Amino acid sequence: MAINMDEIIIENLQVYAHHGVYPKENEIGQNFYVSARMETDTRRAGVMDDLSLSTNYGDVCRFLHSFLREHTYKLLETVAERASEELLLAFPNIRRVTLEVRKPEAPIPFPFQSVSVRITRGWRRTYIACGSNMGDRENYLNTAVACFKRDRKCKVVRVSDWMESTAYGGVRQADFLNGVIALDTLYTPKELLEKIHEIEKSQNRQRLVHWGPRTLDLDILLYEDCVMDMEELTIPHKDMRNRDFVLKPLSQIAPYERHPVFGKSILELYEELLQNGEEHIIE
Ligand code: ATP
Ligand code: CA
Ligand code: CA
Repeated sequence: MAINMDEIIIENLQVYAHHGVYPKENEIGQNFYVSARMETDTRRAGVMDDLSLSTNYGDVCRFLHSFLREHTYKLLETVAERASEELLLAFPNIRRVTLEVRKPEAPIPFPFQSVSVRITRGWRRTYIACGSNMGDRENYLNTAVACFKRDRKCKVVRVSDWMESTAYGGVRQADFLNGVIALDTLYTPKELLEKIHEIEKSQNRQRLVHWGPRTLDLDILLYEDCVMDMEELTIPHKDMRNRDFVLKPLSQIAPYERHPVFGKSILELYEELLQNGEEHIIE
């Protein structure tokens, strides 16, 4: 059973601001009403009656109020998108937020009550496999971690040990160094794939031979409990259950995480592989 998170809710915070497609809206302005439903853990703050352990809704109101006043966007979609991202970055205890921006005085020549845009955004847990078998392998893997640390849309949660393994897939080549990074990210799966390609490229990754030698290879293993199969992206990673150099480091940092298709924990998958799979990790 999934345990629901606690919520802190703000309803219809009024902000006089200047968002809109029409120049008149940008000049004169109008009232906007912002509602935010923030998923967080209030348990410790609630038990201790201590505000410093929670998210101060007064601060959130002040934050949203200034954000909407200090920026001017054409679209409510953009107001909601940018405000929720900045909110998640400014208040680290908020895991997810549903933000609704209403504009009841919108210039529409019909009687209506209100128009609004409502979106849900949040930190998503993902696991990235990394591997290198060229040059200073350890340095390439550490650089990958550093690149994620530098990106404000990623929080590095845990990093496994780096483990040595023989090459997988039949191409004769040097041994690998492998590991797994646990990340919380604001990127969508596709954006994360782009980020990964950008990091690989910055480390001079070239694609010459399929499964051939590489300075740095980053694969998305899991992304929350997302299941997707598209031409350029399959999540969970197609072949993870057959790779000890993935399951061993992953079981070190997330043994009880569940594979959303097989319905088994990472530890179970790793133990199954140890029973009847190929060994690549060099002990
Ligand atoms: P493998 O994916 O079997 O480990 P590889 O890592 O050597 O092989 P690459 O050449 O690095 O393969 O990647 C080829 C393409 O795989 C990428 O450009 C990407 O579009 C696609 N891909 C599909 N699913 C994923 C995923 N979960 N993570 C990373 N890339 C993926
Ligand atoms: Ca790979
Ligand atoms: Ca890859």
